[in-house]
Parts: sequence; C-alpha cells; structure tokens
Amino acid sequence: MKEYISTRNKNINISASKAIIKGLADDGGLFVLPSLDHIQINIESLLHKSYQEIALAIMKPFLSDFTQEELTNCITNAYASTFDTNEITPITKLNENEYVLELSHGRTSAFKDVALSLLPYLMTSSLKINDSKDKTLILTATSGDTGKAALEGFKNVDDISIMVFYPLSGVSPIQEKQMISTDGNNVVVCGIHGNFDDAQSAVKVAFNSKELNDFASANGYQLSSANSINIGRLLPQIVYYFVSYVRLIERKEITLGEEINFSVPTGNFGDILAGYIAKCIGLPINTLLCASNSNNVLFEFLSTGIYDRNKELVKTISPSMDILISSNLERLLYYASNDTDYVASLMKSLQDTGKYEITNELLGKLQTTFYPSFATEKETKECIHHVYEKYNYVLDPHSAVGYKALVDYKRDTQDTRKCIVLNTASPFKFADDVLDALQIKKSDDSFTNLTILEEATGLAIPKNLKSLKDLDILHNNKINKDNILDFIREKMVK
Ligand SMILES: *Cc1c(COP(=O)(O)O)cnc(C)c1O
Repeated sequence: MKEYISTRNKNINISASKAIIKGLADDGGLFVLPSLDHIQINIESLLHKSYQEIALAIMKPFLSDFTQEELTNCITNAYASTFDTNEITPITKLNENEYVLELSHGRTSAFKDVALSLLPYLMTSSLKINDSKDKTLILTATSGDTGKAALEGFKNVDDISIMVFYPLSGVSPIQEKQMISTDGNNVVVCGIHGNFDDAQSAVKVAFNSKELNDFASANGYQLSSANSINIGRLLPQIVYYFVSYVRLIERKEITLGEEINFSVPTGNFGDILAGYIAKCIGLPINTLLCASNSNNVLFEFLSTGIYDRNKELVKTISPSMDILISSNLERLLYYASNDTDYVASLMKSLQDTGKYEITNELLGKLQTTFYPSFATEKETKECIHHVYEKYNYVLDPHSAVGYKALVDYKRDTQDTRKCIVLNTASPFKFADDVLDALQIKKSDDSFTNLTILEEATGLAIPKNLKSLKDLDILHNNKINKDNILDFIREKMVK
C-alpha cells in the first residue's frame, strides 16, 4: 500500500507506516496523500462518540496499512491518562458566536501534546509493521513547545532515542526548564546558539546529510522526525477540528452542516493545515483565520502571493510562532495546485533565493479559504487584557494572537458565522508576559510569577509546571549550528 507521495515528486511512493518512520522524503519534500477525494467523513456518525472513537474514524482512512486493532491500541494508550480532562480538548463559550477550543490540557500544557502523546505509539507500530530491525533516532528542532512534548512522549520508549535542539535565544525560561530537566534513558537536549530558524535548518542539514545517515545505519539507527513535517504529527491534529464541531452540535450551539470558522495561531503551518485537511474531507469550514505575530511572512504570502523569508526574525511574546519558514505550507501548495513539479520549482526558488511567488490563480484559490492577519506585541497584550476583562478568560499570548485575527476578520467581513479560536497553550507557560498584559505586578523570577498569576486569576497552575522549579537540570549542552553533525555522531554512540 504505497499511498503517500513526496510533495516534490509524485513518483516517490511509500506506505503510511513508512512515511511515519522516515518523516521527510528523500528529495526533501513532505509526504502527502496524492488526493483526498476518496476520504469523506460522515459527521452524523460521530455524534456522541468519545474523543478516542472519533480519532479512530478520522485517522483510519489515512493509515490504511495499520489494522483497526493496531490503531485502536495506539489511540487508547495515547489518551488514557495523559490529559487532565476526559474530554481531552474541552470548549469554552465566550459569547454567542465565539468559542475557545482548549488544546493545552496535556502533559506539557501546549497543544503539541495532542499529537505527541500519540506519535510514539504510531512510530512503534510502524516499526513493527515494517519488521524493522534498526533502532530509531528522532531529531527534532523546537520553537519551545514541540521539544518538551516530544521528550515526554518518547522518553523511555524501547528502541527509540530522541535528540531535541532548541534555540538558546528564543524560548521562554519555563519552556527551557521544562526541556533541560527531562529524565529518561534515551533523551538528549541541546541548545543551539541562534533562533528557531537556525535550529530548524541545522536539523534539516542533519537529515539531508548522507554522511550522517550512513554513520547512523552503520550504528544500527535510522533517523526520523517528530516535527510537524511528520504525518504522524499532522493526523492527530485533524481530529480535534471534528471533535469540536461535533461537541457544538451536541450542545445545540450549531446544527449539522452549519458552516463555521476557525482561528488558528500559526507558526510552522501544521495546525492550520490540519484544519484545511479537515475541510477537504468534509468538515463544514468556511474560513480558516491564519493568525501570525510580528513574524508575518504568512500574512504577506496570503495577501500578495509572494513568500519572502529574507528578513530578520523578531523575538516576540508568542515565541512558538517565531518562524520565517513555515514548513507545512508546502503541503498546502501541493493540495491547492495538485502539481509536484510546480511545488518542487517553488521550493527550489525558496532554497536558492529565499523567496517564491505563486500564480494569481492559485493565490485566489487560497484566499477563498484562508484569511490572513497578524498581531503586534502591543495588540497581543491588549487582547489578553480585553478578553480577561470582558469574559474573565485568560488567554496565553499565542491564543491571543488567534483572537486578534478574529477581531480583524469580523471587522473586515461582517461574517457572523460562529468561530472557534484554537487555544494552543496554558497562560502559565508564559506567565511573565501574561501578567504584564493584565497589568499585574510581576517578579523577576518566572517561577514566582506562576504563583502570582494563580493568585490573581484563581486558576490553578498545571501540575507539570508547578513542580518544575525544584527539578534538577539534567542537560546543559550548547553548540553552534555548524557543529550539529559532530554532536549527533558523538551522542549517538554514547
Ligand atoms: C507550535 C505552536 C503554535 C504554532 O503551531 P504550528 O503548527 O507550528 O503552526 C502556536 N501556539 C503554540 C503555543 C505552539 O506551541
């Protein structure tokens, strides 16, 4: 069942399980199903089903070389005890047409947990399906949240090791402490001097290095990825779009078939791409609001058709979205154009010149589904403040960027369809900036600020963050990005 192709070459064919093991295609492209036309989800059949049952119904058609039993086991194990609510992704209503989908109830208080609680099981099953003898080494670059969620998912998993690379200038103190305090017998955490794009491009260099791949196989390893370029990351994210829609029907907030909008705080374009796929396979989505922070390359792209990453990355209070190269956009370009040669030429241009321009026709097509918007730092803080004053609801800075997009969208379009804003992180993860936004006096110590935020808002600090302060630091690797190959080789054989 060689169903997946590379976005850059339709003649590269591979099964779903192999795509999960490999992460990235050999030509640098991302794995996609060539067409989504044969998958149509019957929403009525999902009503009153559990999160896990809906996950099975959505993911099974994308993973046809998994048996029903294998996939059921993966899903059951992933969501058995890792979330602090049985709903997994609860919804809060703000007003008559605005809702917040809370994706931050997992082990590390960010939406990445939804997918990264499941990926290790999908990976282990994939290795079994392929009767793989090699051990797997996961290499992951993180803008802050993926790293810890991946470490928690993969630590102590048999036959898999994980190395996480994070930008030394770019993650919050809490995010850093989460990562460098991770225990487990198979984990390496390493800071890279620079920003997220430096970390991501260093890891891409590692993946594409023939020398490193040869060295790995000589030592019994194959390389893989836990970034959202992996289909095993993407598929679990499609699920909560359906779950949230179904729950709104059950709560009589919407009727079956009613079109709604989603606002998605966007960085690497993984989460919002999952929303696009949900739309393609039958979820009645009218518009996907693509919400960026000051690193607004996606805003420019969706407004002008020109993608240009030749600018300075700015550090913002929504660091998990501080990205100039949104990897998953490549999948959207494929689905919207259906032309792997065209995608390959755009990606070559991006590689050579740092930019590309799509046709007007294609841009027009994207604009029928995507509404781009961005928030400055000031606007982000104002949004946190406004939503707290008005609804007594505390948004983290990323989710606030998403809310700001909704404000812009309503002003521009007068659209009154209901909209779900994806809440991608707990405000406690970014307590320093949230306190600033709420104009509450903070301390110099990020851990003390957790308590200040708890006392001011009456919300409880998530368990994983509460214990963080007292954990020992177990990792203190720091390297320049040019040394990544040596570093990986050295740690691999240790
Ligand atoms: C990763 C992340 C995002 C961006 O998601 P993408 O899939 O990279 O677009 C937004 N908010 C938070 C809190 C994140 O961790």
